[in-house]
Amino acid sequence: MTDAPAGIDGSGTARARCVLAPNPSPMTLDGTNTWVIAEPGSTAVLVVDPGPSGESHLRRVLSVASAGDRRVAQIVLTHGHPDHAAGAARFAELSGAPVGALDPALRLGSDGIAAGSVITAAGCAVRVVGTPGHSADSLSLLLEADGALLTGDTVLGRGTTVIAGDGSLGDYLRTLDELRSLADAAALRVLLPGHGPLLDDPAGVLDYYIAHRRERLDQVRAALAAGASTPAEIVEIVYADTDPAVRGAAEWSVRAQLDYLNSV
Ligand SMILES: [Zn+2]
Repeated sequence: MTDAPAGIDGSGTARARCVLAPNPSPMTLDGTNTWVIAEPGSTAVLVVDPGPSGESHLRRVLSVASAGDRRVAQIVLTHGHPDHAAGAARFAELSGAPVGALDPALRLGSDGIAAGSVITAAGCAVRVVGTPGHSADSLSLLLEADGALLTGDTVLGRGTTVIAGDGSLGDYLRTLDELRSLADAAALRVLLPGHGPLLDDPAGVLDYYIAHRRERLDQVRAALAAGASTPAEIVEIVYADTDPAVRGAAEWSVRAQLDYLNSV
């Protein structure tokens, strides 16, 4: 299990504040980070990833978001996985705000958002960055005024992320390279992940993620060369030191690695 979530709830930057959902698990670390974004003094806020369904968390998000007579102008989803998105419809109902997402099926009362678009509803510019890989519909949000990037599950506050069934390792490797360039281009100072604590060395974290992926691919190639053939056999070799609770996720990762190696 993970460490106590000391300091995650309420953490953030001048314009982004974390409201931690009570859904800790080996896959969600301390729980899902819901982010409330607003320019100081703004009467409107943006809520990113309302989180799983669960009335008490959604009501707490609403009370943080509407403190000081503010209203929720828009809800944005970093991707459609239920720990981020299952509460979105209910939160839209509670707040009266539309839901924007890359996947049209997740949108509610909104034309949706596209990679490259800039959301200004909360009084500060928030740029949508397409970051496919963890899932096909993953996006990140650049909060330029704070040198901050909200990463959803593309980069996590601890450990590394998995490639889900609808994700792609090829896309993910390209995304990591693009984010690494963005870290320099936008002078990023902090990553605000979908799970775990905020990360104050974006370039260093991205370098580690890129190196880790290359190392895992080398290990999978070596396991194949040593005669392993099924994903389960490869997991036994490559992920021998992995918590049994996330072995299922390790197997998804191996499938994604095999797909990738077969495609290049
Ligand atoms: Zn998640």
